[in-house]
Amino acid sequence: MRPRRISVAIPVYNEEDVIPELLGRLTAVLDAQPGGPHEIVFVNDGSQDRTRELLAAAAARDHRIVVINLSRNFGHQAALSAALGHAIGDVVLSMDADLQDAPEALPSLLTKLDEGYDVVVVRRVERKETIWKRAAYYLAYRLIARLSNVPQELDVGDFALMTRQVVTAVTSLPERERYLRGLRSWVGFRQTAMAMPRAARAAGTTKYSLGRLVGLALDGAFSFSVVPLRISAGIGFLSFLGALLFSLYAVYARVALGRSPQGFTALFVAGTFFAGILLIVLWILGEYIGRIYVEVKRRPAYVVESVIRHAPRGEND
Ligand code: UDP
Ligand code: MG
Repeated sequence: MRPRRISVAIPVYNEEDVIPELLGRLTAVLDAQPGGPHEIVFVNDGSQDRTRELLAAAAARDHRIVVINLSRNFGHQAALSAALGHAIGDVVLSMDADLQDAPEALPSLLTKLDEGYDVVVVRRVERKETIWKRAAYYLAYRLIARLSNVPQELDVGDFALMTRQVVTAVTSLPERERYLRGLRSWVGFRQTAMAMPRAARAAGTTKYSLGRLVGLALDGAFSFSVVPLRISAGIGFLSFLGALLFSLYAVYARVALGRSPQGFTALFVAGTFFAGILLIVLWILGEYIGRIYVEVKRRPAYVVESVIRHAPRGEND
């Protein structure tokens, strides 16, 4: 059997503060692994700080390091897709640059993979974040898993070890909207999870604004399910039924009791209530239509500006 090559796929956006520590810890982990040549594929997602220079210098020093510069900031999931697309190893570890996921987990992930799995995902326990953020993550993961039409592990992110077969399957999915943890579940194969505590960021600040996090959760909910459409049908039927019952009661009250329902307030409340429901249903429809719009344009998920790969051909590809 030829020696196993490991690729590490990392999207990077304005991470100059964390890159030195990341390189130190990651190369130490790879040095200890048999097989190879291993590689680290960094995708520089349009950073505006010194990330680009730091990565280029690292690639010149260590020929296991490959750098893909994207032409602008395309976002975490697109950048990670680019990293997976350029990784050539037999197994691929996908992770964030900020060391919230410890690269030192690699040996235990490999051991698990060798038990006969194709994907080993890391379930995050003990998050070091505010209680609000933890609560939001907790709810979002459960809601998405509930809606999804394929089983999804709870509390897992992009930190995962995958075989070549899985990476090829994921990267060859044609969609533009890449909620990778969902796509990874969707492709199937033998998947398992390992629980690991999630550290705080080693340096720098989060690159995810609240809006982007909500966007990611919406991608998770809408890209893997048409259940929300049915929920809006359910709301519609319920409110129709409510209105029907109320009008029957109104007729009864008029004819039998001689009372007519009264009140501007009741009218106003009912009117705004149904307008609200209608707008929510429209929004749900709109989420799907927006996604159809993005997909039919068939624009790529990212554009590559340059690739730095110093390893001679045959040695590292
Ligand atoms: N990232 C990226 N492009 C972006 C935003 C983030 O490549 O537009 C990278 C970032 O450098 C990090 C990973 O994606 O390696 C996860 O981002 P971050 O740690 O800021 O997210 P959080 O862990 O706070 O959700
Ligand atoms: Mg992070």
